[in-house]
Amino acid sequence: MDKYKVLIGLEMHCEISETNTKVFSSAENSYKDEPNSNVRPVDLGFPGTLPVVNKEAVKKALMASIILNCKQPEFIYFERKNYYYPDLPKGFQITQETKPAPVGIYGELEYECNGEMKKARINNIHLEEDAASTDHYSRYSTIDYNRAGVPLLELVTYPDFRSADEAVAFLETMRRIYQYAGISEADSRKGQVRCDVNVSIMDKDLDETKEENWGTKVEIKNVNSFSGVRDAINYEIERQIEAKENGTYDEMEQQTRRWDEASMTTIYMRGKVDAIDYKYFVEPNIPKFKLAESWVEEIRKSIPVLANERKHTYIEEYGLSNYDATILVKEKSISDFYEETIKLGADPKTSSNWMTTVILGHLNKYELEIKDIYLTPEYLVELINLVEKGDISSKQSKEVFYKILEDKKSPSEIVKSLGMKQIGDEDTLRPMIVKIIEEHLDLIEEYRKGRNVFDFFVGQVMKQTRGQANPSLTAKIIKEEIDKR
Ligand code: MN
Repeated sequence: MDKYKVLIGLEMHCEISETNTKVFSSAENSYKDEPNSNVRPVDLGFPGTLPVVNKEAVKKALMASIILNCKQPEFIYFERKNYYYPDLPKGFQITQETKPAPVGIYGELEYECNGEMKKARINNIHLEEDAASTDHYSRYSTIDYNRAGVPLLELVTYPDFRSADEAVAFLETMRRIYQYAGISEADSRKGQVRCDVNVSIMDKDLDETKEENWGTKVEIKNVNSFSGVRDAINYEIERQIEAKENGTYDEMEQQTRRWDEASMTTIYMRGKVDAIDYKYFVEPNIPKFKLAESWVEEIRKSIPVLANERKHTYIEEYGLSNYDATILVKEKSISDFYEETIKLGADPKTSSNWMTTVILGHLNKYELEIKDIYLTPEYLVELINLVEKGDISSKQSKEVFYKILEDKKSPSEIVKSLGMKQIGDEDTLRPMIVKIIEEHLDLIEEYRKGRNVFDFFVGQVMKQTRGQANPSLTAKIIKEEIDKR
């Protein structure tokens, strides 16, 4: 490993989920519905149908382009990528391939990897349509055209990553950008994010600014999870180093492979000679249109507060540690929930403690999302307040938390039903304690002789309140009353 340097480039495909309709048709942008129910004739390329560009999809794509510090084109236009596959009934995909067509070119993005800031250069980001989805069974295959025409953003980086860690940290950063900017849910489990990974290795002492030194590029297609990206890269680095060591590296051709999850290996698909010529040309059915600078400015101004900025606020204004702030912004739904509790008046640190320990612990354990559990920001604030008022102890509050999820009731209802509520006000406790002491004045004598009567009095108070007296306040009042006598 020490003798080589690794070069990794990424192509990240992410569906834009936050538009109502598809990128070139009025079909609903959703495939939660019955297969083949959100389909218009234009999605199937029927003769005589024409695509209409979805302005919202272009807007979201431009937003991503601005966030990635890319240069936006003077004119927006699309191109045809010609190939046949059953998931592409038109026989071509509408995309933006050749410069300067893409919605963004030549950008860069800073991202954090293992506590260090890194920078990756972006070659381009372009808007295209997704293909239909196919499922293969032993004797037949099915096609769902609900996905055909779903807006897709493809981001292409330069080979700026030096390890699987860096590549995955970048992808995680991008995923957060898509979520926080309201561009996409970017959920890999829903198949919304797919990556192609380029890996090559070069001798460490060669000049990496010269492309001819980069080694033989191997592309791994369609990796569907970030953990898959990590494993595929690490496998490929090992494989290529082994080829260097046993002298077969120079025979290795530029090739496309696929990641096989089952065997945890990459498998050869095709070599350079089999590379497909897509015969790109400008899509004739979509007029080229000039991109107004004022619209780009408007989009720039509408970019919401993103994860990094939120994290900064959590550290600088709320006094959270970098570690906790990082955990809180990792998922937008968690960060939104947290911010809601602050708006409702919760102490930022107390709320953060709840979120990063008890709540996330529970969610991770059962692989749940925050929206899946019966806890609202209002309930969390109520629970925090119950502890702060001394109504329940912090130990009891954990029990209440799990009971909220189990019984689907509010914190106060749970506290009531468990008979947990502490009696924490002096006005109730003091007269009760005075009465108990008055009835056992003989014990005060014993106390002076050195007998421990303290526990007896506490016991009496607990008996009368059915265990609900606040223990520390009870002890304090008993001591005061005994000392008075
Ligand atoms: Mn593409």
